Amino acid sequence: MKITFAHMGNLYITVKALLEDLGAEVVVPPMPSKRTLSIGSRHSPEFACLPLKVNIGNYIEAMELGADTIAMAGGVGPCRFGLYGEVQREILKALGYEFEMIIIEPPQGRLRHVLRQLGRLVGRNPVGKYVRAARLAWAKMTAVDELEKVVQRVRPFEGRRGAATAALASALKLVDEASSIVQVKRALEDGREMLLSVRAPEGDAPDPPRIGIVGEVYVVLEPFVNFDVERRLGEMGVLVERSIYIGDWVREHLFKDLFRLRKGRRPYDLAKPYLCHFVGGHGVETVGHTVEYARQKFDGVIQLAPFTCMPEIVAQDVLPAVSRDLGIPVMTLVFDEHSSDAGVLTRLEAFVDLVERSCRRRAAKGARG
Ligand code: SF4
Repeated sequence: MKITFAHMGNLYITVKALLEDLGAEVVVPPMPSKRTLSIGSRHSPEFACLPLKVNIGNYIEAMELGADTIAMAGGVGPCRFGLYGEVQREILKALGYEFEMIIIEPPQGRLRHVLRQLGRLVGRNPVGKYVRAARLAWAKMTAVDELEKVVQRVRPFEGRRGAATAALASALKLVDEASSIVQVKRALEDGREMLLSVRAPEGDAPDPPRIGIVGEVYVVLEPFVNFDVERRLGEMGVLVERSIYIGDWVREHLFKDLFRLRKGRRPYDLAKPYLCHFVGGHGVETVGHTVEYARQKFDGVIQLAPFTCMPEIVAQDVLPAVSRDLGIPVMTLVFDEHSSDAGVLTRLEAFVDLVERSCRRRAAKGARG
């Protein structure tokens, strides 16, 4: 059994560690590329959302490398995500691929259910082995999140353009190669040092504008589909913060669901005056985090959404009211297979320009007042 799964940012480091530690053979698909998207779009329904199309491309590329089993997350709720596993299975079967697809449904409090689904992927293992594998995977996931946060803080101040991105790639490689928790901790320390060393001498850098990124989890986390929005903004001198990291997603959707813990209410409470019921995906979180960024005096918010994503369309409708009430500029970028690099870059540059001008206006007012 050679297991593969779809990419979503750097999630592959965690999933690979978990499965390999449980004795499975893993085929990580090639990183998403234009080829991946072109294969996926060719074989998917036109109005399917972008993540489904890129996932199909990932699976086909992995099967070309010998994968014969696909692990896919399931879901419940008003958006189409819960159907995607079945749709993807049908598309790939119709294309003539022979494989097994194992859909890991949300645990909803049933530990045994999770172990049974994992057991189908990796065979029977003693509980201790599951615990060890989960601890290693957790350590890697936390390290990846931490490194991604450090690179966001460092990038606007890098001495040489691209230095922070290169240092992050080296640091992630160290985490990926670590085979014990001690090694992961060391990789995190070394990675943090590498990242901090790319900073230009302090003092030359002005106070950078701060922009928060909100939106649908897949396009927020996957740099290939969002045209590397975070890197682009960082290299324009913007301090970027993202509303969701892999660890948050796993904690909310797996861990708390598994142990029936109360899910984080903060984004829901903040969104309430504008959107007071669940709309699927991360629609409510998008609104709640925008309110939070406005309260934290961020200079702007960018919403990222796949074309036809229902929860984000609902949020997008609400965001102008948030922007008006709380005085924070908000821009929405919608992505599909026709999006272009130049189009995204132009809109980012225009937004950063707007944000910088309003920062200067505020600073001048402050100096006068
Ligand atoms: S959240 Fe949006 S993009 Fe994701 S599956 Fe649902 S509708 Fe599609």
